[in-house]
Amino acid sequence: MSSPTQRWQDVSDDNSRLAALQALDILDSPREPAFDRISDLIRLVFDVDIGLVTLIDAHRQWYKASVGMTNTEQDLDSAFCRFTLEAGDTVIVNDATEDARFADHEKVVGAPYIRFYAGTPIFTSKGLMVGTICAVDTKKRTFGPREMEILRHLAALVMQGLELRQEAITDVLTGASSRRSFKEEAKKHISLSNRNNAPLSCISLDIDHFKQINDTYGHAAGDQVLTGVVKAFKETLRQSDIVGRLGGEEFAVLLPQTEEATAMDVAEKLRQVVKQLRFPHSRPPISVTSSFGVASLVPGDDIEALIARSDAALYNAKRSGRDRVHLAPKPDEEPKVNRRRVLKAGQIIFNDGRSTYDCTIRSLWDDGAEATLALTTVLPDHFDLRIKGSTEQYHCKLLKRSVGAVEMVYLDTPEN
Ligand code: GH3
Ligand code: MG
Ligand code: MG
Repeated sequence: MSSPTQRWQDVSDDNSRLAALQALDILDSPREPAFDRISDLIRLVFDVDIGLVTLIDAHRQWYKASVGMTNTEQDLDSAFCRFTLEAGDTVIVNDATEDARFADHEKVVGAPYIRFYAGTPIFTSKGLMVGTICAVDTKKRTFGPREMEILRHLAALVMQGLELRQEAITDVLTGASSRRSFKEEAKKHISLSNRNNAPLSCISLDIDHFKQINDTYGHAAGDQVLTGVVKAFKETLRQSDIVGRLGGEEFAVLLPQTEEATAMDVAEKLRQVVKQLRFPHSRPPISVTSSFGVASLVPGDDIEALIARSDAALYNAKRSGRDRVHLAPKPDEEPKVNRRRVLKAGQIIFNDGRSTYDCTIRSLWDDGAEATLALTTVLPDHFDLRIKGSTEQYHCKLLKRSVGAVEMVYLDTPEN
């Protein structure tokens, strides 16, 4: 197998495909029935063990839908689909033990002893490859033109689903704004607030132990709770406030013209609203609680930065016992000037150039960057960052390390 460095050199600039992927705003989103159906179909139609619908960023393959696999993502270096990405075309492996690219792969040599792989690209209408769908089996087999055609049709269906999803303004189940339209609306309000120096706040919330609701009462009852929560919120909030469904049971509320202290009061009111909700038709009647994080706009914030801070506060609320409201501290660093949300391929280099890790750069600002990568724990405090498509190399200092993500500040002007 080629090393990450070789792949970096081999594959032509993929920043435009990453830009297309970013526009879909799909990475790390919750499961959705439309995509689950495709992975189920792959398994049923081809009678294979594993069916996947995946999106590929710069360093990993992330599963939007999967059957037969327990993990939710895979390092791109060890993903079978990297060959489909490199080929930009369907790749069929009838017997992995006979194929030099796969024969010594840990999942071929060991459990689940993969033998067969068929992967086909998911292309946008502009022909940019954003992911793959694949059929994988633990038995050797063959795929004729008919099977390949079905696979390609399924990939086209996935793309159609992604495009429809992108256009959706409201979430069908709850009537809340979709993740995308919430962010679009929020962007407009943020630039208005910045221009007029007006306050604006954001509340992130996540229903507590929601899995238990589904497990105890069934998925349909869970859906009823989600719908009930949004309905109650809309009855409680101002007309100008925006409720968005950002994930499965994760919501955000944007409060234009609202100071931090008022936003805390609103969040507290919503907390009580959720707690008092009753769903009388279920036995015993369901009751739920929810945890909240509140953040207010500071100069330099964009929607991603604002949500990141209200999310962090929400996470603290969860950790300190749930069913409570936490306030995000003001960011301690200088405001990040000109922060831009991007999706670019990057490499983190240290150990005198001997260690190289692929990463996906998620945002850039004037003197720093945020990136996601598989193994954040191995990074030293100082390293270099290369951004694909540019000859510059930045000396960086690690600013923040969290699960799967790091933030860094450039130490000096870049070297060419
Ligand atoms: P926590 O208090 O830590 O938030 O616990 P939790 O159980 O809520 O945690 P988690 O976020 O892991 O679980 C969310 C669950 O929500 C998992 C998923 O099956 C379920 N879910 C996501 N979307 C939907 C949906 O549209 N309908 C229903 N009924 N359930 C959903
Ligand atoms: Mg959750
Ligand atoms: Mg939850």
